[in-house]
Amino acid sequence: MTVLYLVIGIVVLAAIIAVGLVTTGRRRGTPPPRVDTQAPARAPARDVPVAEPESAAPEAPAAPVPTLERPEDPASRLVRLRQRLAGAQGGFGRGLLALLSRERLDEDTWEAIEDTLLTADVGVAPTQQLVERLRTRLRVDGKEAADPRGVLRDELLQLVGPDLDRRLQISGSDGRPGVVLVVGVNGTGKTTLVGKLARILVAENRSVVLGAADTFRAAAVEQLTTWGERVGVDVVRGPEGSDPASVAFQAVQEGIDRAADTVVVDTAGRLQNKAGLMDELGKVKRVIEKQAPVTEVLLVLDATTGQNGLVQARVFSEIVDVTGIVLTKLDGSAKGGIVVAVQRELGVPVKLVGLGEGADDLAPFDPGAFVDALLG
Ligand code: GDP
Repeated sequence: MTVLYLVIGIVVLAAIIAVGLVTTGRRRGTPPPRVDTQAPARAPARDVPVAEPESAAPEAPAAPVPTLERPEDPASRLVRLRQRLAGAQGGFGRGLLALLSRERLDEDTWEAIEDTLLTADVGVAPTQQLVERLRTRLRVDGKEAADPRGVLRDELLQLVGPDLDRRLQISGSDGRPGVVLVVGVNGTGKTTLVGKLARILVAENRSVVLGAADTFRAAAVEQLTTWGERVGVDVVRGPEGSDPASVAFQAVQEGIDRAADTVVVDTAGRLQNKAGLMDELGKVKRVIEKQAPVTEVLLVLDATTGQNGLVQARVFSEIVDVTGIVLTKLDGSAKGGIVVAVQRELGVPVKLVGLGEGADDLAPFDPGAFVDALLG
């Protein structure tokens, strides 16, 4: 009898060890999770708390129920942000208007107009062009007859380019997602832009996957994960320091697998080594395009950096085909003229503007609203 118990005991012990070995082996063989599956793939009603699974064990402690945020509608945010734009840019536009409204437009006044434009980072060539146009129109029309505000509005609008195609290319073809590659120097607001853009897309009921390919900054990956979780968007990430191209590849793969509408890929922007950056971004783009074409390359520039932003624009445009510019921190800069300068520099339109640190403080760039804000 004792022998029987002994045998049964040994058999049970052996079974326990065997089960233990198998599960440990599986854990070892499991690659690190690529996707933050805490967030649901698609959140149908985004302000509705996510239901807990019915099969949850009754004795398990109740997990906090994540509430998804409903991002602000892009149309209404423009109205709200217009005032912020006016606040930051008023000095430049209103200064011009005050000068043009003077009794006599003498040479000193024209010089002051020129200085105002240059100080606002409009750039030399566009400034000269604008001053010439204003001189002609106000002279030909006759100062008394002309409406300085109307003429200035008209000419500023022409300078900003009312007819440029500023639509984001966020849709793919052949059942594949659109792929937006976001590039720019660190600190310009690139990761924030990816998060805010995801919210705009979610507000438009698009399904989105984010790729955290700025793998050199753990903080950037964490930051993006939080942005994603808030609106129920998956963030594909790799271990710190891993190959950015591999994360980008996985993100697009995930987008294809989930039949997502758009994949947005964040990248690292270390300018110290241009050759290195070129290699890295080139590889990211090549690897993505093994699966789906990149439909939009957004270059993020900090509006407060002026000429420095133009230098960055030049470098990045040599590395990748930039298709749209995002100007961030326009709320903190009175130098809105950079919109004109950077579009001239790259021959590419400004498509989005960042107007604050709030989650929905990003808006499509609207030339008319911009010029109206300039003029106060
Ligand atoms: P990255 O290094 O380029 O990825 O930059 P981050 O996305 O981390 O942003 C750098 C800082 O800029 C953060 O403190 C952001 O909150 C801030 N930022 C980004 N966009 C804007 C904007 O449009 N306005 C303001 N005021 N701050 C912004």
